[in-house]
Amino acid sequence: MNNFNTEGKTDEKPKEPSLEDKLVNKFKHCWEIFNDEQKKETLKLADEYFDFLKNARTERERTTWAIKKAEENGFKRVEIGKNINPLNPGEKVYYVNREKNVAMVVIGEKSILDKNHLIGAHIDTPRLDLKMRPLYEDGKSSLALFKTHYYGGIKKYQWATIPLHLTGLIVKKDGTKIPIDIGKNPDDPVFTIPDILPHLSKNVQNKRKMPEVLKGEELNILAGALPIENNDKDAKEPKEKFKINVLKILNEKYGIIEADLQSAELNLVSGLPPRYVGLDKSMIGAAGHDDGVCSWTGIRSLIDIKGTPKNTAIMSIFDKEEIGSNGNTGAQSAWIRFVMNDIMVRTGVPETLTNLHLTLTNTLMLSADVGSAINPIFPSVHDPLNAAVLGKGIIIEKHTGAGGKYGSSDALAEVMAYIRKIYDEKTVPYQIVELGKVDEGGGGTIARYFAESFNCDVVDAGTPVINMHSPYEIVHIADIYSTYLAYKTFFEAD
Ligand code: MN
Ligand code: MN
Repeated sequence: MNNFNTEGKTDEKPKEPSLEDKLVNKFKHCWEIFNDEQKKETLKLADEYFDFLKNARTERERTTWAIKKAEENGFKRVEIGKNINPLNPGEKVYYVNREKNVAMVVIGEKSILDKNHLIGAHIDTPRLDLKMRPLYEDGKSSLALFKTHYYGGIKKYQWATIPLHLTGLIVKKDGTKIPIDIGKNPDDPVFTIPDILPHLSKNVQNKRKMPEVLKGEELNILAGALPIENNDKDAKEPKEKFKINVLKILNEKYGIIEADLQSAELNLVSGLPPRYVGLDKSMIGAAGHDDGVCSWTGIRSLIDIKGTPKNTAIMSIFDKEEIGSNGNTGAQSAWIRFVMNDIMVRTGVPETLTNLHLTLTNTLMLSADVGSAINPIFPSVHDPLNAAVLGKGIIIEKHTGAGGKYGSSDALAEVMAYIRKIYDEKTVPYQIVELGKVDEGGGGTIARYFAESFNCDVVDAGTPVINMHSPYEIVHIADIYSTYLAYKTFFEAD
């Protein structure tokens, strides 16, 4: 027991702070590095980013957005293997794969065989997809609902009781594509997953573990609550009046029948509008910073390259990262290698297998994906000395992975030295860190697939995020500008 003196203080010496309490990330805050001009640019860039956040939310929408940006900025569309016109240094072209991948290219002074600088980011985000047979009626509650299947690693409970927008497309058997976009317009309805009221959650929900607060099969969204009108009094009452009313509306509005939902990609994305966060408006809250922020800053920085870069600069955006980078539109697809071969041919390099191997091997890549910043409520998951801090600039990770670096491509020390050099020369704020504590968990992104299939050097480099994979992720405006600077510096570097 402590002996208190008259002033209420203990006689015991104050405890030495623990090692962990002494550890902090000592990288400088961007706001201490940026000059006045850069601070102004930070605010301008943040304002500009909002348009992307509001309108480009899924891989399809982001592909459409990227094509528009490419066209507006003088990039010419080329198709792999078609109309092979020679490309000269300074020329700008772009490639598209299945409305879900775009690669924008600025031809450099050097031969692509010697070196080229590639940035890869992903444009898919965690969300909910409608199931192939989504619509049903709940007789007890007189409601029509859609069943969903979540996409990517989400905390399922976070997606209930918020507005959700429905976007995507339905393809009819004759090939007609019907775009769907419900919720973006303020006059549109939105959708939502109903959660249970606290008054009655004691037995059915309160004792569940976090991943099961809402289960996968409980992520059902409200689709309608009016029965179909029966004008013919002699006709038999339909069994599912609420479901049929929803189908009637879908048919009137889009000309589809229920079976058409089986050839559709319909995504429910967060309907929470992007807003500045904090009294100083230093942060932006929105869905899809992962990996919209790296895709956007990457494309923005490629467009802003001054003159002809020394190395051919390629900005490519991929789909399906959140589910493992698989499939013909994921980073593991052969498409990007076909693109590299096509650039090689168009820039006059003889088309041999050896030349393709050299082109791929001599690629230097930034795997542009967001990283985790210390969450003030849960700092214990990080090693504070090696953890990213919001506002201290782009995160550079030598490796990702889990446990003993499993699943990581682990960049060479020589490549890390090059990155430090080009960023220090241009005073780009950056922080070289790790995701979390060694045994705490882990993650990874597209880096390893390029290291393996290209045999190239890859470093992870992206913006710090808080609330990752939630319907309302947080980034710092200074980190957006730092990321932009870092990507531009990389594209322009020798
Ligand atoms: Mn990501
Ligand atoms: Mn992610």
